[in-house]
Amino acid sequence: MEGFGRSELSFVNQLKNFEKGYLAIQKEKQRVLASIDNLQEGFLILDANNTIEYANSQFGKILGLVCKKVMNKNISELKDSPNLSPIISLLAQDVKYSFKKEIQINENLILEVFINRLVISKKCVGTSVVVHDITKEKIMGSTKRDFVSLTAHQLNVPLSTTKLSLEMLLDGSLGKITDEQRDIIEKTQKRNNMLIHLVNDLLDIAKIEDKGNSYHCEEVDFEALVKEVVDSDKIEMKNKKIVFEFAKPENKLPKIILDRNKMFLALKNMFDNAIKYTPEKGTISVAFEIRNKELEFKIQDSGIGVPNNEKEKIFDKFFRSSNAIKTNPSGSGLGLFIAKNIIEAHNGEMGFESVENKGSTFFFTIPIKEIKS
Ligand code: ADP
Repeated sequence: MEGFGRSELSFVNQLKNFEKGYLAIQKEKQRVLASIDNLQEGFLILDANNTIEYANSQFGKILGLVCKKVMNKNISELKDSPNLSPIISLLAQDVKYSFKKEIQINENLILEVFINRLVISKKCVGTSVVVHDITKEKIMGSTKRDFVSLTAHQLNVPLSTTKLSLEMLLDGSLGKITDEQRDIIEKTQKRNNMLIHLVNDLLDIAKIEDKGNSYHCEEVDFEALVKEVVDSDKIEMKNKKIVFEFAKPENKLPKIILDRNKMFLALKNMFDNAIKYTPEKGTISVAFEIRNKELEFKIQDSGIGVPNNEKEKIFDKFFRSSNAIKTNPSGSGLGLFIAKNIIEAHNGEMGFESVENKGSTFFFTIPIKEIKS
């Protein structure tokens, strides 16, 4: 470039490099936006003042909106839009961290919404929102639950009638039976009882999976509830000559807000397991207390334990450990799944520790919101 000195030339070169860099950034931005636009999920970006900077076309499709109409608008201007208002209520919450929530927009639209606060140097510089349409999964899930529940109900009556008939045959109400007949009837009774157990577990599953509708919380005397569970298994423990210890808390527990029937079921499943998987003359101990506004419960046994390589599957639906199948062939693998679901529905956590051939401790904690003495 004629007439340009060294410093001018270097300036022009810097400008050219800057332009190149700028074009590369623009190209990259377009590539990212094109990828976001092709996502299956709806996507929204807001600035620090909650003004919508970008909405991908899928967001518009899912919520029945024209994206251009919401772009550059503050969420406060959109709160009357029926489909958007539930999402706007979530965004308006003064929550500094990212979270996920399931929301029903209307009868035909259920969404899973992920709100992600974008934080730089501890300052919120914006929010990204990912919206996932889960309507079909929800409908499928509830149809499946209805089917399982209906089938289980249908099986319940004939199985109970068979149980009664077998009992009458065994106690001689229908006439004398030979030893050979007794043997066959007893085996049939065992299988029938297994089926009744399975059907009951399936009915329980249908109930607990329907979290929204089936939980009815009330003030519960937890100690009395545990005692009820223990009493229901007293004969079983006596038959197996099990040594039982009940470590009651020093001070009487206040009443706790729980779903009484569901909690009974969770405790019963844990207790039944402790008895089932503990050999004769073993020990079982139960302890609970309230610490740091949490109810802590544990049940310890000296039973068969869980093999190390199978521990991570123990709460899976239908899972039974290899040693449990050997010692107790009957079992559905649903009891712990049900118990964990119930604890989690109370915002609690459930876990266990176990050493094969030595014993296991199953425990849970539940936050106590309201306590009444
Ligand atoms: P089920 O007892 O009908 O098999 P559960 O869901 O109650 O089903 O338990 C799942 C599996 O977890 C059991 O099959 C067994 O392998 C293991 N398990 C549960 N409780 C205990 C326990 N107290 N001791 C040893 N293993 C246990």
